[in-house]
Amino acid sequence: MNTQISLIQKIDALLPQTQCGLCGHRDGCLPYAKSIAEGEDANKCVPGGQPVADALAALLDRTALPAEASVWPIQQDGRPQRMKAVIREDECIGCTKCISACPVDAIIGSGKLMHTVLTDLCTGCELCIPPCPVDCIDLIEDIQTLPSEHARLLEQDDLRQRYYAHIQREESRRINRKGPIIRAEIDTALFARFSNQTDTVPSIEMTEKSNKNTAVQDAKAIIELAKIRTQIKKLEKQLSVRNDAQKRILLAELSQQLNTLQGE
Ligand code: SF4
Ligand code: SF4
Ligand code: SF4
Repeated sequence: MNTQISLIQKIDALLPQTQCGLCGHRDGCLPYAKSIAEGEDANKCVPGGQPVADALAALLDRTALPAEASVWPIQQDGRPQRMKAVIREDECIGCTKCISACPVDAIIGSGKLMHTVLTDLCTGCELCIPPCPVDCIDLIEDIQTLPSEHARLLEQDDLRQRYYAHIQREESRRINRKGPIIRAEIDTALFARFSNQTDTVPSIEMTEKSNKNTAVQDAKAIIELAKIRTQIKKLEKQLSVRNDAQKRILLAELSQQLNTLQGE
């Protein structure tokens, strides 16, 4: 195995696999591991806290740096408090946006039905919270006993596997989407390259999409989306001042169009 890949893998093995993006690498631990191998400071993993920053410094033979601070208090093991997401199920409208956002597939539910978080799998990464249109997801402290080092490694391996499965599924959705890509994209090519050079992670296949008109179609659809969003905002503003049945119907139609364009 190539030396660089092997170093990235060793760094990745120390990272929590929360895939939260708080290190500044929005698509997860592997891109940060790669960047550390290329020279980036190794103290930016927020959920890993000081123990991970120190372990990375030791691995890389670098000076240990203070870990990036978390908003949560520090637990006994020196890492920030573990959190879990909980959906207020009676308020959930079943829009499914949180499912796509969850990097480790810890949310179950389907269109128009109530959703729920599988708490054993949830890492508290918070990525499901911003997309929820009705703000019905809370974060609560994880009160379970802290995992042993062995249990933590097993958990990390499982989260890594789940994330790769998630990426592969998102890749298939990307190819089959009806509208343009509007949510933050994962650098699938990086994961695919990495997974093809080591057999310790599930292999990720890129799906070819050769149609060169795609970019033009995407640009047109993005303009269309922007127009619809502006109309929706205008209507919402008008409706907040005075109710109007016709405008409500138009708003519902535009929202439907927006969802269709977004491939939801
Ligand atoms: S767990 Fe750490 S390394 Fe992984 S994405 Fe979050 S901050 Fe970055
Ligand atoms: S349920 Fe939410 S907080 Fe929990 S792992 Fe998934 S995205 Fe992160
Ligand atoms: S994003 Fe919010 S409203 Fe939509 S399914 Fe998830 S929890 Fe329910």
